[in-house]
Parts: sequence; C-alpha cells; structure tokens
Amino acid sequence: MLKLSQQHYDALRHHGEETYPHECCGILLGRVDDDGTRIVTSTARAGNTRTDSAHNRYNIDPRELVRVQREGRARGEDIIGFYHSHPDHPAHWSSTDLAEAHWFGCSYVITSVEKGKAALTNSFELTGADENDKRLADEKIDVA
Ligand SMILES: [Zn+2]
Repeated sequence: MLKLSQQHYDALRHHGEETYPHECCGILLGRVDDDGTRIVTSTARAGNTRTDSAHNRYNIDPRELVRVQREGRARGEDIIGFYHSHPDHPAHWSSTDLAEAHWFGCSYVITSVEKGKAALTNSFELTGADENDKRLADEKIDVA
C-alpha cells in the first residue's frame, strides 16, 4: 500500500495537468513501514528527458535522480516510488513502463489526464525476484 497526504496526491495530479499533452514524471520520497506500507513525505518533480515521444514515454535524468536521492537522504528520506502521467490514456502501466521499471519494492503511480484534466490515479508495486520475473502489481493508494 502507498500512503500519501491529500497535498502530495493533488501535487502529482496537477503536475500531469500542467505538462499535458506531454507526460510528466517525478519521484516519491519517504519511508517504508514495518508492514511494507510506503509513506510519502515529499515529492520531487523531474524533467522528462524524452523529447522524441514525450506523450507516451518518460525518462528521468539519472543525474537528477542521484541528486534527489542525495537530498532526500540528508532529510532522512528514501526514494520509495515514481509517478508519471498518461495523457488521454488509461491509468494502467504499458509494456514500456514495465520494461523501464527497475526499482523493486517501489511504487509506480500513474495518472490518466483526459483532455487536460487529471482523471484516475492508480499505483503499482514492482514485484518479483529479478528482471526476468518482474511485474507491476496493483496496490492500494491511501490518501489521508
Ligand atoms: Zn506510462
């Protein structure tokens, strides 16, 4: 399960509206509880480095990822997930999303943005033993 505040939930949904018709992407920071619940304590916007096909691809600059990770650790936060938007496409992962997901035990949040308005937001946890076995499993989002 992924837990986040209304403020963080709104922030990642608004980000998708702002970048429409292109995809937005960002990073979720926080901590993991003993029962495996991921709790978001901050979000970081990331620039989409995919300029060839920014409406259906996203990619976070590795240098940006390292910087966000370092700044998070200084605050006692870990990277616990990622988010991106699907402009005029369902809030479900694509085969590309699965292929490009490498952070096991992290949440992958997808918001569908229909005609510029954020619609459904779903979250998926990357599970599996390794790259050959990985899958994105539905997970509950708890907004509080
Ligand atoms: Zn996607």
